Amino acid sequence: MLRDGALLIRDGLIAAVGARPEIESLPESRSAEKIDVGGRVVLPGFVDSHTHLIHAASRAEEYELKIAGASYEEIARKGGGILNSVKKLRAATPDALKKRAHAALREFAAHGTTTLEAKSGYGLDVASELKILRLHKELSAEQALEIVSTFLGAHVVPAEYRRKPRGTEQYIAALLTDKLIPEVAAEKLAEFCDVFCDRGAFSRKDSKKILEAGKKHGLAPRVHAEQLTRTGATQLAVQLGAASCDHLEQVSKADIRALAESNTVATLLPGCDFHLGLKQYAPARALIDAGAVVALATDYNPGTSPTMSMPMILSLACTQLRMSPAEAIAAATINTAYSLRREKQIGSIETGKQADLAVFDVEDYREIPYYFGVNKCWMTLKKGRPVFQKAHT
Ligand SMILES: [Zn+2]
Repeated sequence: MLRDGALLIRDGLIAAVGARPEIESLPESRSAEKIDVGGRVVLPGFVDSHTHLIHAASRAEEYELKIAGASYEEIARKGGGILNSVKKLRAATPDALKKRAHAALREFAAHGTTTLEAKSGYGLDVASELKILRLHKELSAEQALEIVSTFLGAHVVPAEYRRKPRGTEQYIAALLTDKLIPEVAAEKLAEFCDVFCDRGAFSRKDSKKILEAGKKHGLAPRVHAEQLTRTGATQLAVQLGAASCDHLEQVSKADIRALAESNTVATLLPGCDFHLGLKQYAPARALIDAGAVVALATDYNPGTSPTMSMPMILSLACTQLRMSPAEAIAAATINTAYSLRREKQIGSIETGKQADLAVFDVEDYREIPYYFGVNKCWMTLKKGRPVFQKAHT
């Protein structure tokens, strides 16, 4: 921690960082434009490594059913859940989807996020999946936040294949591995390939097939693992050298050991458990104590985690996962950057890295998670340029 610090930004990168008098006396500083943050706390901009950015609508109606006692899986079996979002996305125009995503991106920026990963997975046919992935690219060009694209064609099996005998097999072969994955790779529409490996989604065996096909085409694996049930997806992710293994509420001791011995990041999504009203959170302490790289993300999505607020995720990480404020901040910045393979460019305030910064109107960094449900973000900068500033302060 640096008190009374300053940094010099040149061409979007951090040119120097240190004590304020030292930075102010650099020759280049004299002609630099000054941004005075008034002694507020400056962090690296949050790197949100797990979002389902593009979707057509909220699922507030299911929220009410869940409160009344229906489980996530019961709602999914009745055609709600992910399939509900698929139906709405297929019917939506790219313009409508883009407008909604732009509004969400403004919220992300307003809560201190400067880079986010975004997954497809609400299309589940060739045209709709490509529609989402192309929007990731267009949105990257139209606004300041960086979007890292992930192909999640293996979110669930779409309704039209569920009705066929051996539908899952057909969906995987005819659509995912033979058509979509090669097309996504050829058009460079994604860097990662993700699979939802769980009861009601894809088995460990199916997940292996899909992730290996992705790898063959240069898409690095990420996995939704051990969320609702333990499937062994974590060990699969480690075997395949996955960049990240996400959720992990149901991990076993052996899974924790496997993660600790690997470079696969354990990404925890406590917003999801909070929104679903679940009592069992992922064992963050055991993962950290074993030596795993633990990261935190919002899992922004309409069914299980409708939030763009990384500060709220930090609050949950501190109170529910028993992470210290410092651990939670590292997990939401440098560790998520590592899981997106961008640890050399972003995720910390260091000379040579992008000047991606989040400024908080607090006196002590611990107050960022301490105030929950209150947005203390005062200014957000992407590559040195303000992308958000709080009004009237
Ligand atoms: Zn997810």
